[in-house]
Amino acid sequence: MNYRTLPLLLLTLLCTSVRAQKEDTKTENVIIITMDGLRWQELFGGAVDSMVMNPDLTSDADRIKASYIADDQEERRASLMPFFWETIATQGQVFGNRWLGSQVNCTNRYWFSYPGYNEILTGYTDGAINSNAKNWNPNKTVLEWLHEKPEFQGRVAAFGSWDVFDWIVNEQRSGIPVNSGYNKAEGDQLTDKEHYLNKLQDQTALLWGSVRQDFLTHNYMMEYLKREHPKVVYISYGETDDFAHDGAYHRYLDAAHATDGMWRELWTFLQNDPVYAGKTSLIITTDHGRGESPMTEWKSHGTRIKGADAIWMAVLGPDTPAKGVITQGQLYQTQIAKTAAALLGYDYVNEKEEVGAVVPGVIATKK
Ligand SMILES: [Zn+2]
Repeated sequence: MNYRTLPLLLLTLLCTSVRAQKEDTKTENVIIITMDGLRWQELFGGAVDSMVMNPDLTSDADRIKASYIADDQEERRASLMPFFWETIATQGQVFGNRWLGSQVNCTNRYWFSYPGYNEILTGYTDGAINSNAKNWNPNKTVLEWLHEKPEFQGRVAAFGSWDVFDWIVNEQRSGIPVNSGYNKAEGDQLTDKEHYLNKLQDQTALLWGSVRQDFLTHNYMMEYLKREHPKVVYISYGETDDFAHDGAYHRYLDAAHATDGMWRELWTFLQNDPVYAGKTSLIITTDHGRGESPMTEWKSHGTRIKGADAIWMAVLGPDTPAKGVITQGQLYQTQIAKTAAALLGYDYVNEKEEVGAVVPGVIATKK
């Protein structure tokens, strides 16, 4: 063998093996989206009367009632999250409507954020992830697994309203840029809008010390998408959980409604951008549920709150048949990571643990 052809041969072998691992899907970009602690009850049922009308919960009941209450359940949920019901639920697939027989559950036994996000992003449960403290995640996420591939090197990014995402995604080990909490957009290529967002973030009254308002997180992501066109993005919206902990049901509803509008903006942008149009899939889910019984428990979650492991999930994109609301089956939070990679044509495995299976039926070419 001529030594000059050796590198070429190696390159050819490498490319062949990469191609051999990759299945044919239309999806070239994936965005994993989470809305922290939004209950399946509001997603599928809309605002709950008794909670809206409780004077202890809201000083804004008339407006909330006019905005989100309707006799018909479909109308009610569509008024809360119009984009979700007009577009995601008609063009994609939605899981977790327990009233109809579709269930999605956490497999971790903690039912709060870090264990949930770890489960979503790694595809398995790690019992040692049992706190929300800023500990560097010892586990490799599907984001990091993809980022290690030449195709995705420098093309993965994460955004979070909660400031623990730097640790969950393990920014220092993975090398994935994470803009979370009150982080600013950084670099010498910033757009005018990114500079402006940095200014607005400084001028906004802090609602919570560790969670910024979602419009900041969302717009940082939007600007980054336009500027860098990453192929794999994770974004976590956080207001729903914090308003719920505050006991502010009206703000929890308003946050869900506002975030739904941001998803509309994102999807409209993706469908009109030549890099993303027709080649981008969304997976949307939540880290945990909240209480239902007794209803006062809705503010909280965690192992002692019955039903807080009940979550939901949705998939929208060019590989996903438009089956709408799924009415049967049991899915788990562990299945999201492998599904995200499978949409891109990759079979995600984790060296530490077996990961949950691809959600059946969300990829047309996969039997
Ligand atoms: Zn919480």
